[in-house]
Amino acid sequence: FAPWNDPQEKPLIRFQNVTKRFGTFTAIDNLTLDIYRREFFALLGPSGCGKTTMMRMLAGFETPTEGTILIDGVDVGPIPPNKRAVNMMFQSYALFPHLTVEDNIAFGLRRDKTDRSSIADRVSEMLRLTRLEKFAKRKPHQISGGQRQRVALARSLAKAPKLLLLDEPLGALDRKLREQTQFELMDIQEKTGTTFVIVTHDQEEAMTVASRVAVMDHGKVIQVDTPAGIYETPNSVYVADFIGDVNIIRGKAHPADGGLIRIHYAEGAEPILATPTQPVAAGQDVAFAIRPEKIVVAWEPDHSRANHARGKIIDIAYLGNISTYHLELPSGQKVSAQMTNARRLARRDFTWDDEVWLSWSDTAGVVLQD
Ligand code: ATP
Repeated sequence: FAPWNDPQEKPLIRFQNVTKRFGTFTAIDNLTLDIYRREFFALLGPSGCGKTTMMRMLAGFETPTEGTILIDGVDVGPIPPNKRAVNMMFQSYALFPHLTVEDNIAFGLRRDKTDRSSIADRVSEMLRLTRLEKFAKRKPHQISGGQRQRVALARSLAKAPKLLLLDEPLGALDRKLREQTQFELMDIQEKTGTTFVIVTHDQEEAMTVASRVAVMDHGKVIQVDTPAGIYETPNSVYVADFIGDVNIIRGKAHPADGGLIRIHYAEGAEPILATPTQPVAAGQDVAFAIRPEKIVVAWEPDHSRANHARGKIIDIAYLGNISTYHLELPSGQKVSAQMTNARRLARRDFTWDDEVWLSWSDTAGVVLQD
């Protein structure tokens, strides 16, 4: 499933050079983005980057100052919110406290004067989809937070929108329930085939649920890719730094054999051998981004890998499944490395002030223009 790679596929949503200003403040800056049918698409970025504004423009609560939004090829500019095949689910769920679960789900259908038997059919279908059959006659205060979240979802899918917008949908749930609900959301999205666009602060959540993620900054989309693409091949220091943990080492690049480069980052330190994805000019400033789990920490250098550096352990965080090591290189540069603890007992573990070796391969990191 990768409609974004299929030239035959028409996007469901197209932002075409969309700018949104509030007075003199530019919230969305000449943004162009396609989202496809059946995608679970995540908008990710720091507070104030414009995620909610994009959702509100899709729903029709805001209009672009410039540019066009197309849904299914139609310019939705003149179409009011209630006439769009778009629904929005809010973090607060906004359930009616005096209505039962089934009446909450039926609410939109009744308002549309759908006939009684189709309403009943649709409501039972939605109850089944969200596993709420047993709670149909209860009121919102008689069910759990996770169940309320599912009622809100059932209600927003009852009218079979083409597009469902989810604004921090799991924000009110605790971590365990949140993780479980992420899988339920994915399952329901897949079963209904509805296009979901989710806004979340939580990068792990975006990575878990989404087919693709747009990483935003100051009203611009910096990178759109699959979760793995964003994580493995970030296009900028901003994206590398925003998603997960990363070490950034800045230096000057020089061509080496076999299309590789050497990055000189400190006086007297062995340069880093790396594989660039784009041509790099001799002497060019680059930023080398490497994830902690790509660095092996050991008593001896690992000669199957191209890069080695001495390091002193300054801190260890034991996290159960993994440990994170904070290390200092002879150059004074600080890096972190991460290793699983599965086989920890089989070897002597490291402790503070231990002098160790760091090893990583020439393909372990990403060379970025800075
Ligand atoms: P958060 O994650 O905190 O919800 P966000 O990425 O969703 O942030 P938006 O709510 O889209 O951000 O807001 C983007 C920017 O536009 C913010 O700086 C916000 O203050 C500004 N903004 C949003 N709505 C208005 C408005 N009606 N009038 C003036 N400024 C606004």
